[in-house]
Order: sequence, then structure tokens, then C-alpha cells
Amino acid sequence: MPQYKAPVRDISFVLRELFNFGEIRALPGYSDMGDDLIDTVLQEGARICENELFPLNQSGDAEGCQWNNGEVTTPKGFKEAYKNFAEGGWVSLACDPEYGGQGLPESMEYMMEEMVCAANVSFSLYPGLTRGAYTSIHSHGTEELKRKFLPKMVEGTWTGTMNLTESHCGTDLGLLRTKAVPQDDGSYKISGSKIFISSGEHDLAENIVHLVLAKTPDAPEGVKGISLFVVSKFIIQEDGSLGERNGVHCASIEQKMGIKASSTCSMNFDNAKGWLVGELNEGLNHMFTMMNNERLGVGIQGLGIGELAYQNALAYARDRLQGRSLSGVKAPDKPADPLMVHPDIRRMLLIMNAYNEGCRMLSGWVAHEIDVAHKIEDREERQRADDFVQIMTPVVKAFFTDCAFENTNHAVQVHGGFGYIKEYGVEQYVRDCRITQIYEGTNGIQALDLVGRKMGAYMGRYMRTFFHPVQEFIEDHQDDEELAEFMGPLAKAFGRLQQASVTVAQKGMANPEEAGAAATDFLSLFGHTALAYLWTKSVILSRKKLGGSEDVFYQGKIETARFYMQKLLPRTSGLFASIMAGSKTLMALDDDAFGLFDFAGFSEAMSKAS
Ligand SMILES: Cc1cc2nc3c(=O)[nH]c(=O)nc-3n(C[C@H](O)[C@H](O)[C@H](O)COP(=O)(O)OP(=O)(O)OC[C@H]3O[C@@H](n4cnc5c(N)ncnc54)[C@H](O)[C@@H]3O)c2cc1C
Repeated sequence: MPQYKAPVRDISFVLRELFNFGEIRALPGYSDMGDDLIDTVLQEGARICENELFPLNQSGDAEGCQWNNGEVTTPKGFKEAYKNFAEGGWVSLACDPEYGGQGLPESMEYMMEEMVCAANVSFSLYPGLTRGAYTSIHSHGTEELKRKFLPKMVEGTWTGTMNLTESHCGTDLGLLRTKAVPQDDGSYKISGSKIFISSGEHDLAENIVHLVLAKTPDAPEGVKGISLFVVSKFIIQEDGSLGERNGVHCASIEQKMGIKASSTCSMNFDNAKGWLVGELNEGLNHMFTMMNNERLGVGIQGLGIGELAYQNALAYARDRLQGRSLSGVKAPDKPADPLMVHPDIRRMLLIMNAYNEGCRMLSGWVAHEIDVAHKIEDREERQRADDFVQIMTPVVKAFFTDCAFENTNHAVQVHGGFGYIKEYGVEQYVRDCRITQIYEGTNGIQALDLVGRKMGAYMGRYMRTFFHPVQEFIEDHQDDEELAEFMGPLAKAFGRLQQASVTVAQKGMANPEEAGAAATDFLSLFGHTALAYLWTKSVILSRKKLGGSEDVFYQGKIETARFYMQKLLPRTSGLFASIMAGSKTLMALDDDAFGLFDFAGFSEAMSKAS
């Protein structure tokens, strides 16, 4: 039987020890975030995740969602779990109290989010997309739209969606065809078909609020002509009650590899009544408010699934008896030693744990800066924090999910053949995790965003929010003999990252394909270096906390940091070499030389399908 225990101790370490929660408490609106409140939220959140959401994870995967004549039914137990979740106020932890939210810091929301994603990632999508849609309306909607939609979304009685993708356009949204025709009453009639819409239809809420990208008839070509509209499943009456059904329907749901309890819908908009959100033709920018939020959220999904995979691999490795330790029998009273004794099993477990705890530290750092960016009064500091979130968003999305996919594969490997069958549950984590590298902009697109947009933005201003603290940290500690085993590798990786940044920027300016070729390796180099910095910081803190005493938690931190520096950080050397090798070998091969297969009729079939 799979199991999950929320890592509350480690979450608390990140939230309160590694990052100074006092700084969050000093921000306007957070002065009453006492330790008791944090403990209550974490413990109650952990209880719900462990006892209410996790028990539905495996059954939800087995049952999946069902489509019947436009209606979608979620798996058994989801409706009740969602009702409890919403009534408990978990949809709206960090939402604005003005619209009924609880106004807690984002840092707490992110920690809760990890637990929800670990316990049941399919479930997490329903409230997750609602929060994303909430953020977009909150940031760009008129007060009238906010009053109309936000209180019900915050309450969780209405859920949200994000409608970008069409069959012929996923990454390239400039191609989208959905139309929005202005009406005399200020509304728009929306028509078109969207595919792959998460939570597009389901039975958890009484109304669904769709944020839809569409083009008005005289809009400019490409992405410059995209606007954002809000379309609700039921028309909302003057008094706020639900009226007749709007012209939006779910034509079908997808049969997928994973996240089977999350409904992935084809949506038809047929003269549906919608309202413009924000400015005309600024839709993509407005949607980015939601997408950036969701991208961080998808990174957290990866972290959650990676943690779940680790916990189950560890339990199995402690329990399963196979072979004897190479250094002599460890369990003489048993027919064999547990898997834990084998170096290769320990290698996989440590990779998983080092990435998970490292990513949790980075998620804590980003969440901390989101709170600063939202709330601090000092304009310069607000800008710095926002810049940091900008540069880290693609890293969190892509690096976390790549690590998570590696982790889920290690979990299967630790289980041997039992990992490949359903009984132990870990094969589900591989399947569930795989989508996190694809949706919200594939990881390849995140890498392009990092090198193509974020790295050079404002003459490197975003990048400096990471470079400066790390540089300062290295200078402060480089002569500390006791830290040499950590500082040396960190300084080396940081040097590689700096050099790669300059090279990629320079080469990319002359030839954009150079930047495109280096992007994925560069993002991974960035992520690995960020974790090296955080692992080193955690060593300093753990040594201080230990002060000569024995505490397995802090000792574990130091040993895991050591493992990270010696066994994982060297990956940056390969990444650096690959970046420096440039794009030539990628672009030199003639297209025909990739393979002389003739898939006659393939493109014809594809164009018919779209
Ligand atoms: C389960 C699921 C849930 C989803 N939920 C939603 C949702 O709620 N709302 C929504 O709007 N969409 C949703 N999507 C769609 C998802 O965001 C897209 O599938 C994704 O953005 C990729 O688009 P695509 O599938 O069209 O792939 P394509 O755009 O065709 O890309 C194919 C490959 O080419 C690469 N590529 C494409 N363009 C470039 C380029 N310019 N440079 C380099 N590489 C490139 C991509 O990285 C990818 O590897 C969902 C998809 C799935 C499967």
C-alpha cells in the first residue's frame, strides 16, 4: 500500500529557519502570523492531505473521470473531499480578504500546495486553476468583474479554468482562431474550440469560470491581437445568482497517461457570453499573470510527486530483503539484508532526497520573495523581489519537474519489478509526473524564456537578483576552512554559470540558434547552482543548530548536502561543456539525414485532425 506523510518538519525548517519568517511578519497585513497559526495551518493541512486527499489518489487514478453527454463525473470521493477542502478555506489561504480570502502569506500557501500535490496531484488541479484564474481577474479585472466572480471562487463554490490551447496551436498562441464579437451591452460573443482544458467540466462546483483567449474581428495579427475574456458556465444574473446555461460545453474528455482524476476537456464555445478582462489585445500579458502563477504551481506539483515517490521508495528499501551487504551481513536474523544496505539503492534514495529537499528550499526562497514583492512598501526592494521571481519562474517550473521525473523513475527502480506493476503505486507517480514537464509551456519553452527573455531583461537586472547574493555569500565564506568542501564546489559551479551566461548572451545575440541550443542545459546548470547555494546555506544553519549536540534532522542535512556537492553538482561540468560546445552539431545534420523514413500521408492526416 502506498503511503504519504507530509514533511512538516522540513517545511517548517525552510519556512522558519532557513528563511527569516520575521521578515514576512513585518510586512503589512501579516503581523498576526504567529508561530501558533503557522503550526495550526501546517498540521491541519497535513492531516487533510494525508487522511482525505491521499486515500483518493490511487482509486482516482484507477477510476478516472467519466464523460456522459457533456457532463463530467470525477472519481468516487472527490466531490466530498473537495467540499470539505473548500469549506475548510483551503482554496483561499492567500486570497485577498476583500473578496473573502484569508490573506495568509504566499509562503504558507506554497508549502500547503506541495502537500496537496503530493497527496493527490489530480485533485490539486481543481483548486490550483481556480487560484490562477482568481489571480488574473484580481490583477486585471474591473471592480465589477471582481465583485461578480471572486467571492464565489475564493469560497470554492465556483472553480476556474485557463483556455489557451486549440488543436492547431499550443506553444504558438499567435495562431489561435477563437473569435470574440463585441455586443451592444458591452459583452462579447465567444466562438471557437479549445482542447486540453483542465477542469473544463466536472461535478465539484456549481459554476465554472473560464478565462478564454480569443481575438476580436479587427484584431492585429499574431499574439498582439489576443484578448482575455471571462466566460462562465452559467450566466450570472444581476443579483449574482446563476441564470441560464451559457454557450459553452464539454465535447469530450481525454484518455491520458496520468493525472486521470483531473478532467482534461475539449470545450466548444458557441456564441458564449463573455466579458473582456483588462485591455483589448493585451490578453496574453494578462493571461501571463495566471500562467506565471501556474508555472510555479506546476513546479510545486513536481516537488510534491517527487516527495511522494521518495517516501515510498524509502519504505520499500527498508522493508524488502534481497542479497547481503557488500561489507558483511547486516541482518543476521533474517534470510537477507534490506535493500537499504546496497550502495546503488542508497544512491537513488539520496538523489531523490537531495533534489526534493533542495527544490523545497528554492520554493521557499521564491515564495518568500513573492510575499516581499506583493507587500513591501519600499519600491526598490519590491522591484528586486519581483525581478527575482521573474528569473526563477522558468527555473522552478522546468528544473523541479525534471528532477521530479528523474525521482519517480528512481522510485520505480528501487522497487524493481514491483515498481512496474500497480500494487505499490509508484508507476502512477511516473505517469502523473510526466505531464508536469509539458503543460504550462513545455520545459523546452521555459528554457527559451530563461535565456531569450529573462536573462537579458533590463541589461541583466533579473539575473543580478540571484548573482549578487550568491557572489556575496561566496566572498563572505570562502576562507572558512570548515566549509571548504561545500564552498569550493559551489564557487566552481557559480563560475561556470557566470561564464555560460556571458557566452550564451554573446553568441545568442549574433545567432539566436546558439541560445536556443544552449537553453535546456543552461536552465539545468542554473537550477543545480541555485540548489548548491541553498544546500551550503543549510549546512551553516544546521551546524549552528547542532552546536555539538546530536539531532538526526540537522545531521541529515549536512550529509545530504555533502552528497549533493559530491555526486550531483558535478553534473554541472557536463552541462557547461555541452553549453560551450555551441549549436553546430545540432544544426549541421541535413534534415533528410535524420532518417530516410517515408511517413506518407502523415501531415495530411494531422491537418485533417486539426
Ligand atoms: C493533461 C493536459 C492538461 C492541459 N491543461 C491545459 C489547460 O488547462 N489549458 C490550456 O490552455 N492548455 C492545457 N494543456 C495544453 C498544454 O499547455 C500544451 O499541450 C503545451 O503547452 C504544449 O503545446 P502542444 O501540445 O501544442 O505542443 P507543441 O506546441 O506542438 O510543441 C511540441 C514540441 O515542440 C516544442 N516546440 C514548440 N514550439 C517551439 C519553439 N518555438 N521552439 C522550440 N521548441 C518548440 C515544444 O517544446 C514541444 O516539445 C494541457 C495539456 C495536457 C496534455
